[in-house]
Amino acid sequence: MTLLLNLPYEILILILSYIEKSNTIIQFLLCHPSFLYHYNNNNDFWHDLCTLHHIYYRHPCNTWKEMVLSEEMYQVCPHFHLSLFEHLSHKQALAFLSNMNTNYRYICLHYHCDAIVTNQNIIDSQLECSHPIGLRISPYHLFSIECTFCNRQLGNNDKLPSEYYLIQSFIRAFATPLTLNLNLTFSLFHHRRMIELSVFNRPGWSYIIEKSWYDEWLRFLRGDQSYPPGILNNKILFKDNSDELKEDRKLGIHFELVNNASRYYIELLYIQSGKIISEYDLQALPSYCKLLHDIHLYQQQILFRPIII
Ligand SMILES: [Zn+2]
Ligand SMILES: [Zn+2]
Repeated sequence: MTLLLNLPYEILILILSYIEKSNTIIQFLLCHPSFLYHYNNNNDFWHDLCTLHHIYYRHPCNTWKEMVLSEEMYQVCPHFHLSLFEHLSHKQALAFLSNMNTNYRYICLHYHCDAIVTNQNIIDSQLECSHPIGLRISPYHLFSIECTFCNRQLGNNDKLPSEYYLIQSFIRAFATPLTLNLNLTFSLFHHRRMIELSVFNRPGWSYIIEKSWYDEWLRFLRGDQSYPPGILNNKILFKDNSDELKEDRKLGIHFELVNNASRYYIELLYIQSGKIISEYDLQALPSYCKLLHDIHLYQQQILFRPIII
């Protein structure tokens, strides 16, 4: 123990970085009051641990300590670097100003690599470069960021909020025109419309969306409006400072229903205030009986005459 206590900080944290379970790190801190005193609430200590794991990002609501103790540090992708944000406008031009005749594209996000695949017949195509992070865009892949080193899509695991936050921030920026280039804006919104039509037209109508935003979204999908809607304000459907829907809200007047794919896409791409809840969240409460009855009647009707754009 004396040996450990006398180790320089740089050596000690390097040793701890080889531990692969956060519980073991806690056990180490508990083994001597001096470690607990110096490191348990020391933000720099937990930050340094993440840095040694090549993790430079976290959800803004979480601390570096939570990043380690939740085991997120061991599971998030260490290959997606914040520096990728610096080259967003160049990557937008690469994705949306080349080969306009295809709805499929897969681009490398590495900053000095212009590798791109646009052949939609090669759905599982690989880039001809060795960089790990790529962005796949198509009506079936939406905007999916993939890491070939981690061998998975990034940002789609609920248990990794920091990774979701980072990927969501990147995709939102990528899907918004960052320059005044009209060709790029046209192409980008054209691709978004293709993707959003694909998710909108999938079956299932369970998620509650505020009516005026929904109507604006439909205008964009139908091509009556050239740009997508702004902030979704679902909060006005809820009682003050709660996630409880107001009982007197009416389908078709105050809200409309969308499917699960649309809910996922809206949460990923659009800024929103208030949650997107499902009709299933209301089923245990008798006060929503009338509202649920209207929803189920509507679902029966559109089962036979679905809204397809
Ligand atoms: Zn990775
Ligand atoms: Zn590359």
